[in-house]
Amino acid sequence: MSTTMTPDALLGGPSLPQERRIVTELPGPKSAEILERKAAAVAAGVTASMPLVAVAAGGGVVVDADGNSFTDLGSGIAVTSVGNAHPAVARAIADQAAALTHTCFMISPYESYIAVAEALNRLTPGDHDKRSALFNSGAEAVENAVKIARKYTGKQAVVAFDHGYHGRTNLTMALTAKNRPYKSGFGPFAPEIYRAPASYPYRDGLTGADAAKRAIDLIEKQVGSENLAAVIIEPIQGEGGFIVPADGFLEAVTAWCRENDVVFIADEVQTGFARTGAMFASEHFGIVPDLITTAKGIAGGMPLAGVTGRAEIMDAAHAGGLGGTYGGNPVACAAALAAIDAYENDDLAARADRIGRLLTERLAAIQQADPRLGDIRGRGAMIAAEFVDPTTGEPDASLVAQLAAACAQQGVLVLTCGTYGNVIRFLPPLAIGDELLDDALDVIASELTKI
Ligand SMILES: *Cc1c(COP(=O)(O)O)cnc(C)c1O
Repeated sequence: MSTTMTPDALLGGPSLPQERRIVTELPGPKSAEILERKAAAVAAGVTASMPLVAVAAGGGVVVDADGNSFTDLGSGIAVTSVGNAHPAVARAIADQAAALTHTCFMISPYESYIAVAEALNRLTPGDHDKRSALFNSGAEAVENAVKIARKYTGKQAVVAFDHGYHGRTNLTMALTAKNRPYKSGFGPFAPEIYRAPASYPYRDGLTGADAAKRAIDLIEKQVGSENLAAVIIEPIQGEGGFIVPADGFLEAVTAWCRENDVVFIADEVQTGFARTGAMFASEHFGIVPDLITTAKGIAGGMPLAGVTGRAEIMDAAHAGGLGGTYGGNPVACAAALAAIDAYENDDLAARADRIGRLLTERLAAIQQADPRLGDIRGRGAMIAAEFVDPTTGEPDASLVAQLAAACAQQGVLVLTCGTYGNVIRFLPPLAIGDELLDDALDVIASELTKI
């Protein structure tokens, strides 16, 4: 299938007009009224960053309660990659909900869970014998990957990396690097978690081999492989700033893990499912993880997560040791099967590549004119623009916050990230059309000149 086709042809036609259209002040009056109720009813720790209340979404747009149509460059944090309310996903959800909404897989199993496990075993890197288990969220998948690695190795320590993000539960807060907003005041954190330096080519200037040596030296000195159950890393770090490690870094770390009986866990919760132009980001680096965690893009917006890996590691957990009431819910599994069908049969990895090329080209032109755009990086439709003070190279978080807010006012929803908060991240639905994307980049370029 040609990758230049419009999303209508690609995905069977989102029914919402694919346009950026702001018809009220923002937030509009209806959204503002609902947001007032939010302030009175929802815990203050649960923030909402965009000036709207969503009522519909599809293709590359989100429509609010006031009839404003926003261009979506975030996909609800890399979740609705196939497009929001994708027609086949919506149909699968409706059909499954009408037949069976829940039994608890551990009590009365159903086929769709098994079919999702089969798909994960087939699609994840490596042709070894695999098993999968399903959960509700990315954090829960990470927790279970650590449980499984500890049980398999009989060891306890876990190494995570600088700039890493793995979730908000107690164990995953400990694995996550950044204090604010994720951890501050929420300790004590889980024990036996150690942090190693990552590879951040724009800031450390190290080759992959040197960055890996730095990390491995620290692990050997401070932890010791005889105590280490697992190393967990995002092949491309997400919340930390879409950091692509230097060539050779991940290869060296995986090789060291293999030689030292340490389970290598790739957290592909954000990078998985065609997002980076490959089904999984590990493929870009030629690595075959022992365990892979997935969530976000897996089910077109339904909450579902997975751990997939080597059969002998996955099967180390005793009967009844893994599971949960809702894990692998049948409605979520039906959605996942429809979404996975779209990833494979509509060649969304190729679409992600094309989106990445469009974004990178436009950002390079912006960088030519504005040296505050220090670095453009990423793979496929996971692209970052890191903003700095051009004379000192210091991160410029204030510029990025202003730019994201200004773009939202113009009807472009763009997310920020980064350890230093100075990164604009592009995660558009793979269902977005070239014209809408191009128009969003016009808005970003124009708003940037006003800051
Ligand atoms: C979002 C994310 C998580 C946590 O997923 P939740 O579903 O929010 O619990 C874990 N790891 C990575 C890499 C993520 O991006």
